[in-house]
Amino acid sequence: MKKLQLFNVGLYHKAHHMKILKTVAGLKKQITGPVLRPLGFVPTMGALHKGHLSLVEKAINDCPSVVVSIYVNPTQFNDREDLINYPRTPEDDIALLSGIMRKNDYVLMPRDKEIYPEEDNRVFDFGNLDKVMEGIHRPGHFNGVAKVVSRLFDIVNPDIAYFGQKDFQQLVIIRELVRQCGYKVKIVACPIIRENDGLAMSSRNRLLDPQIRKNAGIIYKSLLSASKMIKSQDIPEIKKFVTANIEAYEGFKVEYFEIVEETRLIPLSFKNDMKSEEVYFGCIAVKAGRIRLIDNIKIPLP
Ligand code: AMP
Repeated sequence: MKKLQLFNVGLYHKAHHMKILKTVAGLKKQITGPVLRPLGFVPTMGALHKGHLSLVEKAINDCPSVVVSIYVNPTQFNDREDLINYPRTPEDDIALLSGIMRKNDYVLMPRDKEIYPEEDNRVFDFGNLDKVMEGIHRPGHFNGVAKVVSRLFDIVNPDIAYFGQKDFQQLVIIRELVRQCGYKVKIVACPIIRENDGLAMSSRNRLLDPQIRKNAGIIYKSLLSASKMIKSQDIPEIKKFVTANIEAYEGFKVEYFEIVEETRLIPLSFKNDMKSEEVYFGCIAVKAGRIRLIDNIKIPLP
């Protein structure tokens, strides 16, 4: 009951060291003027786990003041069911954050009207970057991500923003967004935090059927195998292996597995095309029961 009351308070709540703001105006009042800089920013969709907390901890370590946003952004969901079912755990999120956040740190938990006071019809052009992998399977997704991230950057005006490498393609697109829009924010990429069996932590993991969850470690295990196979096998064989290895488990379906150069994201057909001065990642999306999971791994040069 106590927690529920806490969530109902108006502008912000003072029981924690950090401040919780529900409005853009409330946040702006706090962070304009002589705000402590560098100001760090961690955008999230909540249902926080250790992956999110690793970003927040890094931000706290680097910056005297940090803003964490918790906002399930409707414009980035191409699948209505996914938006409806997306886990929302605001009270747990506040409890987790209040364990690490400080006096000059802020949590922004806005309503839709705060982020989109009017319809946002912007269309971004990311060239090839949003035409491959997630871009094919989640049409419109990255345009929605770009809308919300640019809006949040305008609101927060951070010096440093922290993103997880788990969403590898998103990270590349956000770097491009920053370049195109001329934001003066430094983008910091943080490593993927995993469960004991290797499954990349994700808010959606809690939606997995127990039987599916039990086998979901196969995704990362297959990526590890792929990173080793590149020495002795070519990309078509590796793709075949990864797909078969994962789909051997009931309920698992590989949407794509691509090996791409880390900035242009053009999928490679053969390892002959790999250049010694470049860096490559193997990126995967798997439908695990009804839940869609993504992961990636660095692929060494053969
Ligand atoms: P989300 O709430 O899914 O939008 O994620 C918010 C941020 O946390 C994004 O920058 C994600 O890439 C990052 N993130 C999510 N899961 C992980 C993870 N397992 N390890 C590291 N970062 C993550």
